[in-house]
Amino acid sequence: MLLDQTQAIEAAHQRRRDGERWGPRTLDLDLLLYADRVVQTDRLQIPHPEMTQRAFVLLPLAEIAPAGLVIPGAGSLQALLQRISSDGLRKL
Ligand code: AMP
Repeated sequence: MLLDQTQAIEAAHQRRRDGERWGPRTLDLDLLLYADRVVQTDRLQIPHPEMTQRAFVLLPLAEIAPAGLVIPGAGSLQALLQRISSDGLRKL
């Protein structure tokens, strides 16, 4: 599945999966959305379960998302952005 492919790319960049969960990584590829599909399996949840709480995900997403994007189960991207703080974020 697509997740196997993204994890293979992580592995090819020396990503190890034995460290702390939220620790620094060489590469982290997450699947955020897949059109308007909702996926719930043991290994894969789409929309990504933490994406709606992360300004570092939502702000860049807003730069490329189609107008009026709705995140299944969470509402519109614009509404989510109004509720989240971007304090501490810096564009590289
Ligand atoms: P991470 O440490 O962020 O790479 O995530 C660890 C685990 O999250 C992976 O082994 C996946 O099985 C699981 N996972 C669940 N949903 C997703 C998703 N949407 N994108 C990437 N990983 C996911």
